[in-house]
Amino acid sequence: MSDKYYRNTVLDVNLEAIEKNCRAIQEINPEKILIAVVKANAYGLGAKAVSEYLAEAGVTFFAVATLDEAIDLRMHGIKQKILVLGTILPKHINKAIQHRIAVTAPNLVWVKEAKSEVTDAYDKEVWIHIKVNTGMNRYGTSDADEVNEMIKEINSFSRFIYEGIYSHFTSSDEDNEVTDEQFNLFKDIVSQAERPEYVHISNSGGALTLKEDFTTAIRTGIALYGYYPSRWTASATSVELVPSVKLSAEISAVHQLEAGDSVSYGRKYTASKREKVATLPIGYADGLLRQHNGYKVQLEGGTDCEIIGTICMDALIIRVPEHTDAGVNVTIIDDSQKSKQSMESYSEYTGTISYESLCAFGRRIPRRYA
Ligand code: PLP
Repeated sequence: MSDKYYRNTVLDVNLEAIEKNCRAIQEINPEKILIAVVKANAYGLGAKAVSEYLAEAGVTFFAVATLDEAIDLRMHGIKQKILVLGTILPKHINKAIQHRIAVTAPNLVWVKEAKSEVTDAYDKEVWIHIKVNTGMNRYGTSDADEVNEMIKEINSFSRFIYEGIYSHFTSSDEDNEVTDEQFNLFKDIVSQAERPEYVHISNSGGALTLKEDFTTAIRTGIALYGYYPSRWTASATSVELVPSVKLSAEISAVHQLEAGDSVSYGRKYTASKREKVATLPIGYADGLLRQHNGYKVQLEGGTDCEIIGTICMDALIIRVPEHTDAGVNVTIIDDSQKSKQSMESYSEYTGTISYESLCAFGRRIPRRYA
């Protein structure tokens, strides 16, 4: 996004906080390579800015979900290792080779097909990470024999490099035995195979709570951005994460309502007495949900103000104290961990999680980096 913007609604992204979180996570995983997960535009914060900053801070490995996201990072000058976590189509393997991107192999059929698609257009190799299915049942194989066949097939082809093997936790943000079961299955399958350079399974939940010396890397997304995957994770880890995001807008108009006056579409809110309301230039096209009706934002100075009436595509209305004028800054999400306007409170208000709230921030909100 251009550094120039003409909007009084802003998403402040604290890159220093992201770096701090990175260091804190690395501190409790000292021997492991940190793979920074910057898929979905770095969870909405801006993959280019976040990756550039982290690369500068020493991060050597990034992960994204799609080949397009990986190529985009390369186009923006990211030279570090990039792994695509999703499955690319075998016919696109030459694009991965061209841009020096590591890919995920979900099964033997994929390896054979990808191998048959490799052309001489680019005289280079491609790094492959085998995906082991330990219960997510999304990608990967849980058959140890198939894993060994895949390794054989990869090793028998000079253009393929067997670089990694990994799996994904389903429930590392919860207090249960599922994580141990998955981890044991992963260890069992990996132990029966040739060990590559990168062996990884932990997402943020695992990286923050699981102590183990079997793997060589961790893949962290949400924790980098300063948010715990769950309340349980927050209580189970010693790591103090620093939230990196603040969402604010300036009041663009104020109106005086008399008893009986209503606001917004459907006239769903009617004043019972004389009161002042203010319009904020942010709506559901920016990532808020219509269910945020009733959520309290905070005026500069500390007064909590309720969102009233129907949230529009580009605006919403709040009830404000009498003296409030246009231009006053309003915090919708602050950068604390536990306040009424924290990312967690904002997300829980509509029954969702910080992951979804972050990814929902509209493209048109300017990201301001500090
Ligand atoms: N690894 C994979 C395969 C993922 O799909 C994700 C995120 O969904 C991550 C790692 C990062 O997870 P988290 O944001 O919980 O750290």
